[in-house]
Amino acid sequence: MSALIDLHSHTNESDGSLAPAELVQQAARDGVTVLAITDHDTLSGYDLALAAAPAAGLELVCGIELSTKLRGSSTHLLGYFPAAGELTEFRQWVRGQQRARKDRNIRLVARLRELGFSITLDEAEARGRGMTGRPHFAAIMLEKGYVRDYRQAFDEYLDESAKGYVYRQEPTFAEGVEVIRKAGGIASLAHPTRVRGDVVDMMPELCAAGLNAIEAYHSDHTVDETAQFVVLARRYGLLVTGGSDYHGESVKPGVRLGTGYEGNLRVPLDVIGNLRNGVAVASDGRH
Ligand SMILES: [Zn+2]
Ligand SMILES: [Zn+2]
Repeated sequence: MSALIDLHSHTNESDGSLAPAELVQQAARDGVTVLAITDHDTLSGYDLALAAAPAAGLELVCGIELSTKLRGSSTHLLGYFPAAGELTEFRQWVRGQQRARKDRNIRLVARLRELGFSITLDEAEARGRGMTGRPHFAAIMLEKGYVRDYRQAFDEYLDESAKGYVYRQEPTFAEGVEVIRKAGGIASLAHPTRVRGDVVDMMPELCAAGLNAIEAYHSDHTVDETAQFVVLARRYGLLVTGGSDYHGESVKPGVRLGTGYEGNLRVPLDVIGNLRNGVAVASDGRH
């Protein structure tokens, strides 16, 4: 099998189903040689996976997926730290975000109980631990028979416009880009097809915020969408990144590490080299 790279994956330290070491082993079995773990708002999955990478024969890239607000809508931003280092300040900032998430979860439980659901914070945290989020609440609602499926849980109760939604303090997109870059990282716009609004129109604003890259390759993208985002990145002098957004079979069925849905994903091998060079350029630029 030829080498595959996958720069977007989740462990059970956020909303994936595999433990960090299991994810690394699964990636190796699937032929991935360079894997970035990009858990939501935490580096724990990466930290816990590090020890397993050498034995699995793959290179692990430190990453994260931040939830940010862009023009009032939740927008995911990937951060990559190929030269990981200590990231002390960045980790501190991440812990602050986790406190905000915990606060939201307390209010979300109260709201769901108001709506008549018997759900406790302990139950949710038993699943998501420090990174408990809406997907964990959806799973409990499904298990208890309150909803038919995840979609109904989100559409009727958990989505931003649904009746159970509670506000969460989130960083702005520009703040997310800034903290990633200050830590020597590369900031990449995650799965741009899910950005609310016209990404093409937003590009000047995103670039002004300091965005480095676009996730042109993603398991949800069609061939045409990928091509459009590659062109868009080139037009603005940005890097491209890509990955499967693997969450494990039980959370996102059908997605495989490195190859997406039935082989619809193939991240070009030069992406990782460009990412590393991008870091070099970015840090040279600061001195
Ligand atoms: Zn995302
Ligand atoms: Zn993701």
